Amino acid sequence: MALSVIRWQHLLWTRLHRVCEPSVCRLHATGCQQSKEHYKVLVLGGGSAGITMSARMKRKIGAENVAVVEPSEARNPLHRLIMHYYQPLWTLVGAGAKSLKTSGRSTASVMPSGVKWIKSCVQEINPDNSTVRTGDGKEISYQYLIVALGLKLQYEKIKGLPEGFEHPGIGSNYSLQTVNKTWAALQNFKEGNALFTFPNTPVKCAGAPQKIMYLSEAYLRKTGKRPKANIIYNTSLPVLFGVKKYADALWEIVKKRDLQVNLRHNLIEVRADKREAVFEKLDNPGETVTYEYEMLHVTPPMGPPDVLKGNPLADQGGWLDVDKDVLQHKRYPNVFGIGDCTNLPTSKTAAAVAAQSAVLDRTISKVMKNEQPDKKYDGYTSCPLVTSYNTVILAEFDYKQQPLETFPIDQGKERIIMYHMKATLMPHLYWHGLLRGLWGGPGPYRKIMHLGMK
Ligand SMILES: Cc1cc2nc3c(=O)[nH]c(=O)nc-3n(C[C@H](O)[C@H](O)[C@H](O)COP(=O)(O)OP(=O)(O)OC[C@H]3O[C@@H](n4cnc5c(N)ncnc54)[C@H](O)[C@@H]3O)c2cc1C
Repeated sequence: MALSVIRWQHLLWTRLHRVCEPSVCRLHATGCQQSKEHYKVLVLGGGSAGITMSARMKRKIGAENVAVVEPSEARNPLHRLIMHYYQPLWTLVGAGAKSLKTSGRSTASVMPSGVKWIKSCVQEINPDNSTVRTGDGKEISYQYLIVALGLKLQYEKIKGLPEGFEHPGIGSNYSLQTVNKTWAALQNFKEGNALFTFPNTPVKCAGAPQKIMYLSEAYLRKTGKRPKANIIYNTSLPVLFGVKKYADALWEIVKKRDLQVNLRHNLIEVRADKREAVFEKLDNPGETVTYEYEMLHVTPPMGPPDVLKGNPLADQGGWLDVDKDVLQHKRYPNVFGIGDCTNLPTSKTAAAVAAQSAVLDRTISKVMKNEQPDKKYDGYTSCPLVTSYNTVILAEFDYKQQPLETFPIDQGKERIIMYHMKATLMPHLYWHGLLRGLWGGPGPYRKIMHLGMK
């Protein structure tokens, strides 16, 4: 009986994570009628970047000329409504500081009114004839295409996952299905190792894998269990954080709170029944090390969406190949990219999406007028490094990994005010500013705050 429940849950999991994989879409397509539609601007993906750009495009050319392809049914059969999630809140959900419910709203409520929502997944993109094919067999042509497909979580690349999530003591803030398991594992912690991982691939919000470690440490301290816990951060990276100013501040915290950091350790297997996690040592190929755990937080490997792999729009790694200054595709001038699916050499965040959206808006205006794009993206991205239940180091930086801070104070320090920005102000800015196409990042405010000097 227990085994069949696990099998059933595994099936459900697989279904949840595969709705936009080509093979599944092909299944859906069998027997569907072919139909043709055309839009002046077609947006692929209705996540943070897709909704933001469709709101901006609606203002520019009118709602009737814009369509968004975003899958509908089975995206989350656990909820009746098709939901859009503010993922940055999941760091706090995994630590019990916010509920999962508060991180989501129905997709219908964030879709700009009048814009056509095509409730399907993109199965094929044909940039040579400016068409896409959806999972239900529809062919859609476009004049301009905005690709905003996000990235793909790849739990299955770790042996023993995702089925290992059915055991206690393991969670992951990166997915809707597992974020509450982090909180359960933390609450049920008794004694032993609390392990946190960072994979050997690009990730979204590179700070999130360690934010949950700081929160967990604070929780264990608050509940008196800290003396019985070894807190360990095993990261594939050779550094704690990519920007020196913030890395220095984080190393101080790590030392002060007695956290163990192992660089160049990559999670390759979880034996959830025995509560063991196996890591490869990236600097000693072939060597592995096994840790027992009481609690494990997994940050999964991540990669580009399947539909881009092998497509002429993708680079060798499968990411959308765009110009890093103006976000126009390098070979197809009527194609543009934004957000996690692109190969922009900056940290993949919603904050980056905000800054990119203002640049892309301008680029598309220029291209529509047959003019040269002129506004350049500087790689702005931001990561509120949550270091406890009331402090944050607000990292903001550019392509050169140099701090690009909004406020005229030292943002390398833990601050209570920044925590309130992360937990309260930023969600508000997301729902009411970014997704309505009204927030293009803090650039103009930074200038004012620094009296025009930055
Ligand atoms: C735990 C966690 C913490 C984070 N913390 C922060 C933070 O503190 N600050 C910050 O700025 N950012 C943070 N982020 C990152 C941020 O959420 C993402 O960078 C942002 O959502 C990227 O937007 P996107 O539109 O590119 O991708 P998404 O918002 O993921 O949207 C992609 C969309 O494409 C759709 N899609 C996929 N495949 C197909 C297909 N074949 N056809 C049609 N549609 C498809 C998906 O359904 C989805 O709606 C965090 C993320 C996580 C998970």
